[in-house]
Amino acid sequence: MTYAEMLALARSKLNPQVYDKYFSAGFVSAVLEGANGKYYTGVNLDLACGLGFCAERNAASTMLTDGERTVRRIVCVDEKGALMTPCGSCREFLFQLSRENVRAEFLVSEHPLRVRTLGEFLPDPWQTGRE
Ligand SMILES: [Zn+2]
Repeated sequence: MTYAEMLALARSKLNPQVYDKYFSAGFVSAVLEGANGKYYTGVNLDLACGLGFCAERNAASTMLTDGERTVRRIVCVDEKGALMTPCGSCREFLFQLSRENVRAEFLVSEHPLRVRTLGEFLPDPWQTGRE
C-alpha cells in the first residue's frame, strides 16, 4: 500500500461520534503497517473520566493482538483528514512495544512526501536503568 493509499484508508475510517457526555470517539484515525506486511486501523476513544486512548495505540493494540510488535509505517489524521504527528504517549508506547520501532516511519507531509522516524520523534525514550 502506498502512503497515499494509507492516507485514504485512514480518512475513510474517520467517524466522529459523541455518544453521550461521557464518551466520544472516531475524531482521529490511524493506519499502521506491521512488519508482517499487514495493515491495522484504529480510531481514538475519549472518556470523560480521563481514560481513553489515541488512534495509533488502538491500531497498535490490534497489531499486537495479531502477534506483531514491530511497525513499519504509520499514517494518522485528525477529524478534518489532516495529517497528525504522534503524541508523547504514543511515541513511548510504540518504543516499548519493540525497540525496532525506532525505525517506524510516520507520514508528516503528503506534498512533498516527507516522513520522520519514531527515533527522530523520540530521541531520548523513558528508561529505568533496569535491563
Ligand atoms: Zn497519541
